[in-house]
Amino acid sequence: EAEVYEVASFYHHFDIVKEGAAAPSPLTIRVCDSLSCMLAGAESLVAALEAAADPAAIRILRAPCVGRCAEAPVAVVGQNAIAPATAETALAAARQGDTAPRIADARTLDDYIAEGGYGLLRAVISGTMPADSLIATLSDAGLRGLGGAGFPAGRKWSIVRAMPGARLMTVNADEGEPGTFKDRVLLESDPHRMLEGALIAAHVVSAERIYIYLRDEYPGVRAILLREIAALEQAGLLTTPIELRRGAGAYVCGEESAMLESLEGKRGLPRHRPPYIAESGLFGRPTLNHNVETLFWLRDIIEKGAEWFARQGRRGAKGVRSFSVSGRVRRPGVKLAPAGITVNELIGEFCGGMAEGHRFAGYLPGGASGGVLPASLADEPLDFGTLEKHGCFVGSHAVIVFSDRDDPRAIARNLMDFFAHESCGQCTPCRAGTDKLRALMQADLWDTDLMADIEQVMRDASICGLGQAAPNPMRSILTYFAGSRS
Ligand code: SF4
Repeated sequence: EAEVYEVASFYHHFDIVKEGAAAPSPLTIRVCDSLSCMLAGAESLVAALEAAADPAAIRILRAPCVGRCAEAPVAVVGQNAIAPATAETALAAARQGDTAPRIADARTLDDYIAEGGYGLLRAVISGTMPADSLIATLSDAGLRGLGGAGFPAGRKWSIVRAMPGARLMTVNADEGEPGTFKDRVLLESDPHRMLEGALIAAHVVSAERIYIYLRDEYPGVRAILLREIAALEQAGLLTTPIELRRGAGAYVCGEESAMLESLEGKRGLPRHRPPYIAESGLFGRPTLNHNVETLFWLRDIIEKGAEWFARQGRRGAKGVRSFSVSGRVRRPGVKLAPAGITVNELIGEFCGGMAEGHRFAGYLPGGASGGVLPASLADEPLDFGTLEKHGCFVGSHAVIVFSDRDDPRAIARNLMDFFAHESCGQCTPCRAGTDKLRALMQADLWDTDLMADIEQVMRDASICGLGQAAPNPMRSILTYFAGSRS
């Protein structure tokens, strides 16, 4: 019973009603209060909704990032994501019972096949495209894991292939890093590009089954994938069985080993390493795990060649990236841009400049975890390994831009609130550290010695990247925005 309770209470989207307590209101409106939504007025939206909604009928909950940062602020009425939302539009949807998810007009299997789709999978299965040459092409192209870690994809395939025993494959579609929404956009537009990539990868490493772990915040994508996987099966193209699993609201499950725990039906607690998941992953089997976007590029790279992909980068970086851009820019959204681009170029060439009335002050290069940089460092190339010297990283390429009208300390507080909320609680440095830093950051005058002490323990002793990276925004604000408002 304790374990069932632990699992049920771990995930934000399960409602635990204690004996004797009142059941929650029949309808829930979740308002995202993560950074991009905060900049767009999430606090006033929550206040307006709380003032206007009848609590007997509607429950207003704050929620961490729901992956629609370019259209902030977002309110999710039942499963209907309204973006941008006002209290009036959200309540009107609630009154009209408009609570079902919106399903995007994604490219269907027939359309995908009509433009050559699944030809590559057929060639790989028939052996005309040998595994070794595929791995060599991926390595030459410089394809890296685009969920945030940046591990070379070709090397990962070689490692998993060499492991003894029956193998499995997982696809991480749990993007929960505040500011990241690219995987949703890719799956809502061309899901078969990812599915073909997954089937090819599974064949190369001889995986018996593919598990797609999709975040619960994307019910519209779930409907698309269910429909298209069924179509694949019908067409006889499901060369490896695919299971679509949904998360239940837990940022930490985007960490690959926590995702595996969740797939096994448990709390999403990150595992200690070693062993690495390539050796002992899902159900103890050697496991190949890829992010959605990594698989999305596979077909193009192999059909058009490693050189085609690699040459698109700037300043020596290889390839293109789907940047999720949000915040104070004129045209936020997913921007297909060269790896190694600078944020100045990204804003100027791809986003139409800054939003009206805003002067560029700083940016988050890699979502909540990747730190914060000032406008004076906006000519640094954005790629794996380029920002570490400034205490930052590009991660899932979620760029959040803020302006002279935003308070850097309020930004850091918002991010620490997020980490404290999402810490899985397994290890003390992170569980207690995020909570203590959050409390210390409320003060007008920050106790920087004590904060540095806690930060060091978190970096040294946290089990996973969440706890190790949680102090990043705070450290960046102290380094680059010391004279900022509070
Ligand atoms: Fe959980 Fe945080 Fe420890 Fe990671 S660092 S295992 S999220 S408590």
